[in-house]
Amino acid sequence: MGAVEELLKEYEKVWAIGYSLALMGWDSETYMPEGSARERGEASAALVALKQSILTSEKFLDLVERAEEEASDDVERGIVRVLRRALKYYTRIPVELLREEERVTNEAKIAWRKAKKRADFGTFRPYLERIVEIKREEAEHLGYENHPYDALLDLYEEGFTVKDADRLFSGLKPLTKELERILSSGWPQEHPLEETPYDAVRMRELNERILDILGFEREYQRLDTSAHPFTEGIGLYDVRITTWYHGKDFRRSLLATVHEFGHSLYERGCDPSLWKTPVCGGVSLGVHESQSRFWENYIARSRAFSSLVAPLVREYLNLDASPDDIFTYFNLVRPSTIRVEADEVTYNFHIMLRYELEKGLIEGSIEVKELPQAWNEKMEEYLGITPPNDAEGVLQDIHWSLGAMGYFPTYSIGTVLAVQIGRKMEEDLDLPSLVSEGKFSPIREWLREKIHRWGSVYPPKELVRRALGEDLDPKAFVDYVKVKYR
Ligand code: MG
Repeated sequence: MGAVEELLKEYEKVWAIGYSLALMGWDSETYMPEGSARERGEASAALVALKQSILTSEKFLDLVERAEEEASDDVERGIVRVLRRALKYYTRIPVELLREEERVTNEAKIAWRKAKKRADFGTFRPYLERIVEIKREEAEHLGYENHPYDALLDLYEEGFTVKDADRLFSGLKPLTKELERILSSGWPQEHPLEETPYDAVRMRELNERILDILGFEREYQRLDTSAHPFTEGIGLYDVRITTWYHGKDFRRSLLATVHEFGHSLYERGCDPSLWKTPVCGGVSLGVHESQSRFWENYIARSRAFSSLVAPLVREYLNLDASPDDIFTYFNLVRPSTIRVEADEVTYNFHIMLRYELEKGLIEGSIEVKELPQAWNEKMEEYLGITPPNDAEGVLQDIHWSLGAMGYFPTYSIGTVLAVQIGRKMEEDLDLPSLVSEGKFSPIREWLREKIHRWGSVYPPKELVRRALGEDLDPKAFVDYVKVKYR
């Protein structure tokens, strides 16, 4: 048996643990009885430790070493690359530091929830201070070339650096002018459908119907309900998505469903020959988000999609909305303090602000105690609004309490990339007519061929270049906004 083959055989154990953890994770967000949380937490922690011990065993490290010498094609080199990255995290960061992070973030999650409830940053501040210290230490252990934040960015988006992020966000700055223009042009900021109630059972049926039209495979995929929508790729043949229901403003439920559909299609599209290997599955958070954003923004927020769904909205929700109404309702532009409620035009400003603050925290140019004020000042600068309190400002996201720093920029990577994908696709396909006729198979096929089937064989930057013949380009997004919101 060759070293790669032997490595993959050993990796099957890791794969099976990952499969179980994913299923348990999905279950804990959907159907698990509340009282089971502690027991589930212990079972998960034990499996994570088991996985880690297999990956860092001498036998495994040796196999990776030998496979690296033997790897003779892109897939084999990809397998070694992905494993090397996983090992780097486990072998460079001292176990005590990882344990400390686990302990601090467990407490920080609770403190954050309390702080958010009371709109009191002070409750969360000492925890965040400790988390920032831990992250800075981790960056030193992981190593970087130019900036400590590079080491953290790379955990979520392989090869993405401060230099790349600076280029991305300065390229998005012209959106400030576009936003001013859009708001002063009288582009709608509100719509009565935001307040119109719906029947949740019928809404669920509408979501299912739309998923059927998009090409959701019932045999391998399912839709459920959770507090926050998410996708869980349990295996190649089992990908679950969730959505939410608020009883009014049906756009939120529908667009979340379409967004998660995009994530799930990516997970399902991996070439079956890569099954059970470390390269089966999305390559990075940014590329993953590009898939969800493509379906949510480029497809579902288009005029063509509005005409496709208007009759369905009438049939299922008994609402008399024209395609024009729906297009307007899906594309309102309104600066708001809350990221998850932001529209396409203002969304990237929320990310830009978080990126600048995180970078400052990691390099030491901003202190945690200065965050609330720095947050509010940037909010005022970018969107012309000031959060009424810290709950709607600096405390709104869960990410920092989980120790996720370097994560936010992937949202903008995905949002921008989604537009580039759409533009490239339009060179080959007549999207408006396909979408308005509900013919999605050529679109799914295009994505599968160019992006999905490769899993993580190539690093994200290389995958993008191979698929689109270009790099991440914020100008494409700004141009798209200029044309769409005219
Ligand atoms: Mg997403």
